[in-house]
Amino acid sequence: MRYLELYNSYDFTIEKAEGVYIYDKEGNKYFDTFSGIGVLALGHSHPKVVKEISSKLERYAHTSNYFLDEDTEKVAELITNEGEKVFFVNSGTEATELALKVIKKKIEGGKILFFSNSFHGRSLGALSVNGFPGIRDQFKPLLPGTVEAEFNDVQSLKEAAADNPDIKAVFFEPLQGSGGVQPASKEFIAELKNQIAANDWILACDEVQAGLYRTARRYSFEHFDLKPDLITVAKALGGGLPLGGVIMAGEMTEVLEPGDHGSTFAPNPLALRGAKVVLEELETMQDSITERGEYFLDKLKMIESEKIKEVRGIGLMLGIELEEEIPELRDKAQAEGVLLNVVKGKVIRFLPALNITKYEIDELVKKLEKILA
Ligand code: PLP
Repeated sequence: MRYLELYNSYDFTIEKAEGVYIYDKEGNKYFDTFSGIGVLALGHSHPKVVKEISSKLERYAHTSNYFLDEDTEKVAELITNEGEKVFFVNSGTEATELALKVIKKKIEGGKILFFSNSFHGRSLGALSVNGFPGIRDQFKPLLPGTVEAEFNDVQSLKEAAADNPDIKAVFFEPLQGSGGVQPASKEFIAELKNQIAANDWILACDEVQAGLYRTARRYSFEHFDLKPDLITVAKALGGGLPLGGVIMAGEMTEVLEPGDHGSTFAPNPLALRGAKVVLEELETMQDSITERGEYFLDKLKMIESEKIKEVRGIGLMLGIELEEEIPELRDKAQAEGVLLNVVKGKVIRFLPALNITKYEIDELVKKLEKILA
């Protein structure tokens, strides 16, 4: 094979995908709990998304950033508040890079704090604030001036702040996704707020995975009452096509000048149309996402299995932490017709389509009961 296989990919080829289901070329049907790793907020092949993107494609596919697209301002309005501005990029990693550039230009040599198990991407800049030593450290030296503290460890945060009075910004994923569907604790958030207020830190919230209604609210930081200066988004934003963005508030909107950043591809016109359709729909679904998220969480909690240590999450970003790794879990799930995503070795991460029905949740839970029996 000439394709460089860096993922542990499934052994089948997809024929088509609809809603929460993926069908392979051999006619097998699978329940998809990945949703393209949190990308397909309205599920696979949502008719309105397909129709809107296709009809725009018939008019044009790409223009470059020399042309302002008809959907740009509308999408910007859907993800910002009054006084904020967004710059569009193509991915979560690119959003991290741009947020780092804004921070670096603003703080002129100050340090950036980040936390263990926080995932912000795999480029060299993003790795510099990435809390996964296994994927980070082999590429050192990375950006200078970053400081790591333990996530959800108040003492570690206090010590990092005391030892590094030159910290000027903090990069934060309030509800960790790849880190194991782990929300920040109340105590940790309280201390983080103290430090931000006392030291005037810039707060950058990574909402690439947990943002855009995955937790029912537009941004997951709303559950934690945070007021970020920078917000990174991607994944669900483009309706299945690559699109990311950095939202800047207050003084942050004045940091970059023409020429400071750019991209040939971003924002892609088709991805912008996807964003418009998806965000308009999701905006109206907040109560229902809360309700179905609680329903799903309750059902997961009712699964009787000695293999389960904890069930947790917010909205429709849920996880089952297992007592220990189960090497054959993915194969066992596949045999039951479920595509399961395991992160941090022993956390089953659920990022289902946000329009998943209770009926589909019941179907999935029944299969999980068998898989974890
Ligand atoms: N930030 C978070 C929280 C993520 O989960 C991810 C990807 O999983 C990224 C950043 C990087 O995004 P991308 O893979 O689009 O570059």
